[in-house]
Amino acid sequence: MNTAPTKSQVFRQGEAIGGDHAITGTLPMLDDVIAFKKRTAEFDHGYYRFVSHPRLRRLEEALKARFGCRHCKLTESLETALLELILCLRKPGTVSRILIMKEEGAAPPFSDECFLPECERKGVSVMVRDCKSEIPTDLGRDDILLVSGGFSGAAKAADSAQGQGAAVVVVLKSTGGELPTRPDVPGARFYVLGLNASVGNAQNGVRAGAVLGNADRVMARLAEQVKRRGAILSSRVADCFLGANSTQAALDPAAPHRIAEALCRLEGGTNAFLYCSGMSAITRVLDILRRRGRSHIIAVGHLYSDTYQTLRLGPNKFLGVDEVDALDGLVTEDTAAILTETITNPLSDVPDLEVLSRVARAHGVPLVVDNTIATPANCHPFDFGADYVIHSTTKYLNGRNDHGGGVVIVREPLLARQLSDSQSLLNDEMSPLEASALEKNLGSFPERMCRFNENAVNVASFLARHPGVARVFFNNIPSHRSFATARRLLKGPGSVISFTLMRNTWEGLRAFYDSRLHGIVKAPSLGSDVTLLCPYTLLTHFDDTDEELAEIGLPRFLVRISVGCERDISAVIESLDTALLTYR
Ligand code: PLP
Repeated sequence: MNTAPTKSQVFRQGEAIGGDHAITGTLPMLDDVIAFKKRTAEFDHGYYRFVSHPRLRRLEEALKARFGCRHCKLTESLETALLELILCLRKPGTVSRILIMKEEGAAPPFSDECFLPECERKGVSVMVRDCKSEIPTDLGRDDILLVSGGFSGAAKAADSAQGQGAAVVVVLKSTGGELPTRPDVPGARFYVLGLNASVGNAQNGVRAGAVLGNADRVMARLAEQVKRRGAILSSRVADCFLGANSTQAALDPAAPHRIAEALCRLEGGTNAFLYCSGMSAITRVLDILRRRGRSHIIAVGHLYSDTYQTLRLGPNKFLGVDEVDALDGLVTEDTAAILTETITNPLSDVPDLEVLSRVARAHGVPLVVDNTIATPANCHPFDFGADYVIHSTTKYLNGRNDHGGGVVIVREPLLARQLSDSQSLLNDEMSPLEASALEKNLGSFPERMCRFNENAVNVASFLARHPGVARVFFNNIPSHRSFATARRLLKGPGSVISFTLMRNTWEGLRAFYDSRLHGIVKAPSLGSDVTLLCPYTLLTHFDDTDEELAEIGLPRFLVRISVGCERDISAVIESLDTALLTYR
């Protein structure tokens, strides 16, 4: 039987899902997934941290033209642009000195504490000088000269620093929505920009950051790092700098405060801090915790791929959900935090939060819980002793694929103060425009979540009985290793289900994935009102070897389905049935 999609049912490759400010895009055929991973095709839209929204690309093009640079990476603020660039320059070499040249008599335009989290800062000295000061004559490739004002006065120092091999970074701030122009600083290798625009009558407008440069390899590394750590600019904010009026009317400066309060109420916390992505929220908490001179995180369970990749780069420890008895022995004086997900992505494991918090308390180590997949409708991690609760608000809390963001919720005043200080230093809060978008959808979250839970139970029990399916990973089915823990800790199972096919090969996956899946959108992301499906391991661990996948227990041909909150899920089940009967 011909299982190829008919034309009318096929989404175009990279078609936006979520309207004007879509946060994901379609990958209709397996070859699209492969082309995306191998970068052999350009995509108009994709998951918002991986494929820049067309608005961001337009703003990047405008800045590149003004600065005569080949590369531009936008972030949510000047400070995060600078932090990401410096972290990037530290690898593979290490920065030993950061010298700031500023306008004579002026205060530096940012705090030197922004530059690096404490653990990264070890061995780095930060010096502030007026622009006409002499600079050391022993600078080298590991040093950075930041020129942040008095550009003509600093020209001699910049020239000398560049001659000595140091990276010269020019830092510029602009206001009033104007894009800045390039100052003449000899030897400048990178430009870091802070853009500000007032919007409508609002006193506080919107802001953006950018790094520009011609160093191909550094800028490529920076782009990858920013995607993973999540310092993403909102497409709604980019609109303001491109002069689009439609979004300007929507700025409500009080929206972030209202959203933070609503999220606190949902989770039972006292303070919520909003970020521009879920990964940005996770990164910031981990950076703060490692600041206390403690260097490693213990990750429990197979966590979301970017959280895992971030941790894989450092001296961190990993523990399976069925190994929590060993946790106590792993914690040392050097442990910064225990990190887990209430329901893990994608295998639906449920770590025993009661055991985790007992060990965490006994050692005085904070417990950080990513509650994105369970959501506050199904679990309140604070009730089980969590210190920090994190969400990617992009997912269930918003639910419509038209908002990107993250939140960290706490209930200890000390933790709230640290997060607040960090946001004041880095200016990395979610923009009011993005908060307003979330506010439109958050009201219906409790009602939507009932249907997510219910639909997923139906889809999972259908898959578990289907002859075309080999194995289903969903905490609500009795054969799942977390079934008993889920019963104890969760009020509902969420709607992320993963499964392997009976024909567990490239050909099997291709035949299934490329078939007609009417009513299901083939796209990354989860927690969307419409059912989404993706070949998870190919998308997130494409280059991993069989041994690496075996080590983390991830099947290469795993399919993940994020069941939606459709009022009638039968069309989705019928569609899966047809594909599963014919793909073999
Ligand atoms: N946490 C979990 C459990 C996720 O599944 C994701 C993304 O899929 C994230 C965090 C990161 O969120 P974002 O993509 O909004 O940065």
